[in-house]
Amino acid sequence: MFYPPALDLENVAPLDVLAIAAHPDDIEQTCGGALLKMSAMGYRTGALDLTAGDMGTRGTPERRIEESRAAARILGLAFRENLRMPDARLENNISLRLTLMAVVRRLKPRVVILPYWEARHPDHYYASILGFEASFLAGIRKLDDQSEPHRPFKVVYASLYANVQPSFVVDITPHFDQRMESLFAYESQYGESPDGAGLFPKREEIYDRLRSIARFYGNLIGVKYGEPYVVKETMRVDDLVTMGVRTF
Ligand SMILES: [Zn+2]
Repeated sequence: MFYPPALDLENVAPLDVLAIAAHPDDIEQTCGGALLKMSAMGYRTGALDLTAGDMGTRGTPERRIEESRAAARILGLAFRENLRMPDARLENNISLRLTLMAVVRRLKPRVVILPYWEARHPDHYYASILGFEASFLAGIRKLDDQSEPHRPFKVVYASLYANVQPSFVVDITPHFDQRMESLFAYESQYGESPDGAGLFPKREEIYDRLRSIARFYGNLIGVKYGEPYVVKETMRVDDLVTMGVRTF
């Protein structure tokens, strides 16, 4: 059994926003802009990487975790840990679910950001379903008598790599460059390296691609750079007069 996780979380203050992802550097690509924005607004943000990318062609798990800490500083995260679950072998089983559930309880996030539930890499969709189910289970008192139950108020899905209509787009214009800087903190993945040279695009190419995607989503809401999200619930509007995206 994986549960409980070998993390000391007793003294961690509750988070406003927690991003859960399969691999170090996933959040930098898909939701780093919103995390930067929330942190700039004074919220406590955090990230939980489920695996250390042990199966990656480049770098070692230890190096990637070290790089993820540097990226966390650039993103202004108050918390970041790695659960060291098995890379490329994530699955939705009771032991991984309860491990994640125990961490969600201790971090008490109001909002959880998950990967979109359909993806090419199985780890990404397993991270999504594990995150959803763990967030729900965290509210069931009798599942764990070592901690207080807590259920996040809101789950949102970072849909940047999914070709789906977003429920909303976050304006990340002032934060785009810093988001890219956090991604390039993974020197083992994005630095010059002969390992997998034919497989990995160059840094300028990655910058260009991610900028095009951010421009595309920004354009949908009339700003320069945007980050797309999907929610399963209907969005509520209280004031028709101040609605943000113009029609003409
Ligand atoms: Zn990934």
